[in-house]
Amino acid sequence: MEFEAVIGLEVHSQLKTKTKLFSSSNNDFGEEPNSNVSVVDLGLPGALPVINDKAVDLAILASLSTDCKINTKSTFARKHYFYPDLPKGYQISQYDEPLASNGTIIIQDINGKDKIVRINRIHMEEDAGKLIHDISDKFSMVDLNRAGVPLIEIVSEPDLSTADEAVSYLKKLRNILIYADVSDCNMEEGNFRCDANISIRRAGETELGIRAEIKNINSFKFVKKAIEYEILRQSKLISNGEKVVQETRLFNSNSNKTFSMRTKEEAHDYRYFPDPDLKPLILTCERIDLLRNSSFQSYNKKLTTYTVDYKLSKDDSEILLSNKALSKFFDDTLLVIKEPKLACKWIITEIIKHINLDSFVLEVENFANFLLVLKDGKINNNSGKELLEKICTSNDDIELLIDSMDLKQESSEDLLKEIIEQVLQNNPDEKQRLLDGEVKLISFFMGKVMKETKGKGNPGIIIAIIKKEFNIS
Ligand code: ADP
Ligand code: MG
Repeated sequence: MEFEAVIGLEVHSQLKTKTKLFSSSNNDFGEEPNSNVSVVDLGLPGALPVINDKAVDLAILASLSTDCKINTKSTFARKHYFYPDLPKGYQISQYDEPLASNGTIIIQDINGKDKIVRINRIHMEEDAGKLIHDISDKFSMVDLNRAGVPLIEIVSEPDLSTADEAVSYLKKLRNILIYADVSDCNMEEGNFRCDANISIRRAGETELGIRAEIKNINSFKFVKKAIEYEILRQSKLISNGEKVVQETRLFNSNSNKTFSMRTKEEAHDYRYFPDPDLKPLILTCERIDLLRNSSFQSYNKKLTTYTVDYKLSKDDSEILLSNKALSKFFDDTLLVIKEPKLACKWIITEIIKHINLDSFVLEVENFANFLLVLKDGKINNNSGKELLEKICTSNDDIELLIDSMDLKQESSEDLLKEIIEQVLQNNPDEKQRLLDGEVKLISFFMGKVMKETKGKGNPGIIIAIIKKEFNIS
C-alpha cells in the first residue's frame, strides 16, 4: 500500500524585546534563575498585565514578512492548564482572534520547484517558565525567568509532504524572522521551537488522516528524524490494520524514536476565554503601514531585488540573506560600487567567514576599492583572496597593500610569453601530449606559469597565449 504523509508545523519563536510581554521584567537568556520575575509574571492577585508595544511591532513585522493579513482587531485569551512552570494557572495567548492570518512561505520541493506553504495564522502569547530536573535527585527546580517572555506562534496549514520539506520550511521561516530582526531564532537557547503534526493517508486520497503531534523539537536534524520515524510508525500501524490515535508525542534523540506523552487535549479542555485584564488589541492602519514602509524590507522583497534586479542566482541570494550582517554589507557595497555579481561572489565566499567575528573591521568603501582593482585586472583572484583575508582584519589601504605585498598582476604579454616558452621547454613530455590533443594539460601549464610568476600571472592572458600556441579554440 502506498502512503503519503501530511505535515503541518507550529513554530514558537521568542521576540527580541528588552522586556517581557506583559511586565517590565528583563527578557534576557542565561541570567541567575528567578532573577527576572515580577508580580505580573507570577500572576499574584491584583497584578495587571500591560501589553509591550515593541513586542506587538515585532509580531506585526513577522506577519508582514510572511505575507500575512494583519487583523486590526485581535484579542488575548486565557488558556488554562496546570503546570508548575505556569504559576498563574493559565497562559495568555490569542485564540479565535489572532494577530494575523493567511500568509505564505515559499520553499523548494524535491524537484527544485517552488512550493507554496500556507500559513494559517500568527498569534502572540507568553512563554512559560522552565522546569529543571537534573540538578537534584529528589526535586525538580523551577526557573521563572522565561515566564512571560513574548512569543509568536506561526501555524502552517498541513501543506508539507516530507521531512525534507518540513526542514526547508523551518529554515526559510527562521531566515525570514532573523532577517526582519524579530527573533534571534537561536535553537540551542530554545527561542525557535517546533511542534510537528503528522498524519498519513493513502496516496491520492484527499481526506486528512488522524494526526500525532510531536512537541518541542529544537533542531533541524531532530525534526527530520522525528518526522521520518513517525511516518514509518503510522504506516506500519495502518498496514497492520490498526489505527493511529490522536495524541501528543515526544521525540527521544538517543533512540531516534517518538513516544506517547498524553492523549491529545481538545481546545475546549483549555476553557479559553477572553482575558478580562486586557483590552482587545486594536491596530491602526497607520501603525501597520509605518512598519511596512520603515527601512525594513522583508526577506521576500529583498530576494526579488537580488534575483530580478541584480540577476544573482537564487542560491547565492539566499546565502546573502541568511545572514543579516552579510546582506547589509552587500547592500552598502552596492551604494558605493554597482557590481552586484562581483561583490556577491567575494562576499559569499570570503567575507562570510569573517563578518560575524569581532576582528572584522573592513569598511565597505575599502571593499569597493578592492572590487575595483580586481575589475581593472590589477590583481588576480589568487592575490585577491590573500588581500581580502588581510583587509578583513586590518582595513588597510588597498593600493598600499598591493605594493607592499607585491601582488600586482603580471599582464605583460611579452613577459608571460617568455615564461611560457621556458616552462614548455622544461616539460617536453607534457608539451608533446598537449600537442597530441590532451587539452587538460592547459591547467598543468597554467600551474607552472603561476608558480613562476609567484601567483601573479594574469590567468586570462596566460590561457590565451597557450591556446594560440597550440591552435586550440
Ligand atoms: P492544536 O493547537 O490543537 O495543535 P492548531 O490548529 O494550533 O491545533 O494546529 C494544528 C496544526 O496541525 C496545524 O499546523 C495544522 O496544519 C496541522 N494539522 C491539522 N490536521 C492535520 C492532519 N490531519 N495531519 C497533519 N497535520 C495536521
Ligand atoms: Mg498544537
